[in-house]
Amino acid sequence: MLDQFGRSIRYLRVSVTDRCNLRCRYCMPEEGVTWVDHSAILSYEQIIRLVRLAASLGVEKVRLTGGEPLVRKGLANLVQELKSIGGIRTVSLTTNGVLLAEQLPDLLKAGLDGVNLSLDTLDRAQFASLTRRDELPRALEGLEATLAAPGLTVKVNCVPSGGNDAQLVPLAALARDRDLTVRFIELMPIGLGDTLTRRTEEEVLRQLEEAFGPALPCPSDALGGPSRNVTFQGFQGKVGFISAVSHQFCQSCNRVRLTATGFLKTCLQYDHGVDLKVLLDAGAEDAALLEAMADAINHKPASHHFGGQREAADEGRNMNQIGG
Ligand code: SAM
Ligand code: SF4
Repeated sequence: MLDQFGRSIRYLRVSVTDRCNLRCRYCMPEEGVTWVDHSAILSYEQIIRLVRLAASLGVEKVRLTGGEPLVRKGLANLVQELKSIGGIRTVSLTTNGVLLAEQLPDLLKAGLDGVNLSLDTLDRAQFASLTRRDELPRALEGLEATLAAPGLTVKVNCVPSGGNDAQLVPLAALARDRDLTVRFIELMPIGLGDTLTRRTEEEVLRQLEEAFGPALPCPSDALGGPSRNVTFQGFQGKVGFISAVSHQFCQSCNRVRLTATGFLKTCLQYDHGVDLKVLLDAGAEDAALLEAMADAINHKPASHHFGGQREAADEGRNMNQIGG
């Protein structure tokens, strides 16, 4: 459907849990995390019902995220159910990769279309420091498993955060040696994002051009994603930049988010949207849910104001509670 600014909303990110097996510094505190009670988390049946309704409003693309989506049991069953919904063209996953190698066969059988694997460094000690867990070997096993899976779209997502400056070139080199896209995602001032150092697209690109020569422009992603893609001489794959702060892309934003607790969130920065779990728990009919969803989507904010003054309606959740 179109929102009040004429943007066609076709992409739903669904967070299936707030739990995670890592503690990335820009996302979660080391200790003192209060987990949402299980009773407050959407069941798979509820997620399937809401995605079916979202599809009837024009959503075509679903991405499962978290927390870490693979820590929730039975995710492949959810993928299979979502894939069978009319109108849903792709179901993909954003994951830290730690549990991926063991679960990928079932996910592929269920019809998973793509994996975005978050990886900020290839250095084991640095990985352990940035994520507070020594899990690089398993994350890399996950990456290898995805690259061996025919037909799966694979992207590596890296957030440059000051602590991984020397790893940006080695990470981009993955796209030289393998047919995948490595994307650099600008650190956003959400949750703990303010506590690290943002590196802008220009800063990262400068480093990459020094290493690989001039960047060559590439077509952008299918379904109008915000990534600005380039490649370099001799590369098999691509390098992308998602730069919400330095190159705002709100005018073409086509996404909304469903949090693990059933809040349909219409902009990353604001607490705007509607609590669908309350409606579900009150026994709402599909028509009432649809009306609430359509109304929230219609009122999707025009843009974020990252870098500006804090506002009362700003998001107070950490990123593991939103899904990135
Ligand atoms: N656990 C999964 C993972 O890490 O891929 C999925 C959830 S995680 C919240 C989704 C994405 O959000 C990750 O790629 C992570 O790097 C990114 N992220 C978390 N906090 C961020 C921040 N403050 N700014 C930019 N990206 C952030
Ligand atoms: Fe977990 Fe993903 Fe957040 Fe890292 S970014 S702590 S892997 S939810």
